[in-house]
Amino acid sequence: MIFEGETVIHWDHPPRCTSPHALPARSHREEPTWHPPRGDGQARVVRWTCDCDTVFYELRQAGGLRFIRRTTRARNNPSIDESDRRPAGEADAMWVALLHGLVR
Ligand SMILES: [Zn+2]
Repeated sequence: MIFEGETVIHWDHPPRCTSPHALPARSHREEPTWHPPRGDGQARVVRWTCDCDTVFYELRQAGGLRFIRRTTRARNNPSIDESDRRPAGEADAMWVALLHGLVR
């Protein structure tokens, strides 16, 4: 119900947003090679971006290596891609670059 004269609350992000949002991709971004998911369901989710957007990302760990998993939500048909698997230090750096729009 809307009452005239009341302050309109502007939801910049929905109130449930508690995770970081990746900044828009920059022109000089690095484009990782994306692969179909390997289906190793045991991969542990280490970090994640907010899932309020069409595309969200997870940093996952499996067997001592880490990778970024990208979920793109299309209507009723999400598509999932995974980056190369790298040692934690390299993958963490790639994750930070992704949050800053330098990897996409
Ligand atoms: Zn959000």
